[in-house]
Amino acid sequence: MTKSRIEPGGTIGILGGGQLGRMLAMAAAKFGYRCHIFCPDERSPAFHVADRVTVAEYTNEEALLAFARSVDVATYEFENIPAETAKLVASETYLRPGVRALEVTQDRLHEKDFLNKSGVHTAPYKAFQTAEEFEAAFAVIGRPAVAKTRRFGYDGKGQYMVKSRRDAEAVLAVTKGAPAILEGFVKFDREISVIVARSPSGDVAAFPVSENIHTNHILDTTTIPADISDTIEAKAKVLATRAANALEYVGVMAVEMFVNDGSGDIVVNEIAPRVHNSGHWTIEGAATSQFEQHIRAICDLPLGETNALGKIVMKNLLGKDILGAEKYLEDPKAHYHHYGKQDPREGRKMGHVTWVNTEE
Ligand code: AMP
Repeated sequence: MTKSRIEPGGTIGILGGGQLGRMLAMAAAKFGYRCHIFCPDERSPAFHVADRVTVAEYTNEEALLAFARSVDVATYEFENIPAETAKLVASETYLRPGVRALEVTQDRLHEKDFLNKSGVHTAPYKAFQTAEEFEAAFAVIGRPAVAKTRRFGYDGKGQYMVKSRRDAEAVLAVTKGAPAILEGFVKFDREISVIVARSPSGDVAAFPVSENIHTNHILDTTTIPADISDTIEAKAKVLATRAANALEYVGVMAVEMFVNDGSGDIVVNEIAPRVHNSGHWTIEGAATSQFEQHIRAICDLPLGETNALGKIVMKNLLGKDILGAEKYLEDPKAHYHHYGKQDPREGRKMGHVTWVNTEE
């Protein structure tokens, strides 16, 4: 581990085998890298495009050490990798982004404390676990509020919209007694995200801001440019850059934000320490894709240009949306992606479509 740059032809290890790992491996191949993917699920979609795979639990130390020794740099495609796993891998090879980014972002309380200390504002929040603590938190935060488990929440899982102090029982049924936070409900006009990359030497490049529409807490569409002023666009990029610098981050990360059009206020919701669904548009819609940018950053190659190539819409194909989605192959402006998953369960991310320079 003396040379920070991983020369094309080297091997990249990816912890996690979902569609993000799959798209990372496809981007890595562009520069001649091979990928070794570690995932407990033998049906992982990323395995289809990998040079080498390890099917083992994230707690399997022997398998993790062998994996780490077989690669020139390792990364992760989802944030719920246990911190101990990350530490073990980092003891043998470069882990980019590092353990700290994972530890901070795995816990909503630590993440919010960290962001606010770094000058990146979030909604007001207060930690709780028991019914008494919930009521104390409610007295401070007021209503409406959102209760969220501190760990392992995604796509709205482990969340509850709180309207009254008497919601304690219902909240604890959702949090199941796990450590949680109560967060003030933000009256926002739109949700945006900034995909930002940072290199080991501290170069930072942000993509144009994406505007995101969620349905049932899951991303439905992303549109570029976002319908925001140049001032808000610039401010959002400054906040994302500040967060990346404060974390001494290496790689691509996503910063999700709420925007109030009237006041121009931006509140950061959360950080994903990885490539992100709201950045899929960059594959065909930007000068460099977020996946290529992540590979560039973790291999210490120069970061690529981030400009958008036009007006862009990305739509997720969830569950049964994938059935019959081949119609998109007949649309000359559509770029169709199928993640190679077999079971179209409700809400499962099966693929996506991106239109460049067109109304959907
Ligand atoms: P999260 O899991 O934190 O990304 O939240 C999922 C979605 O719930 C967000 O994309 C928002 O649409 C909504 N949401 C989460 N937190 C808040 C909040 N404090 N105020 C308003 N809406 C929220």
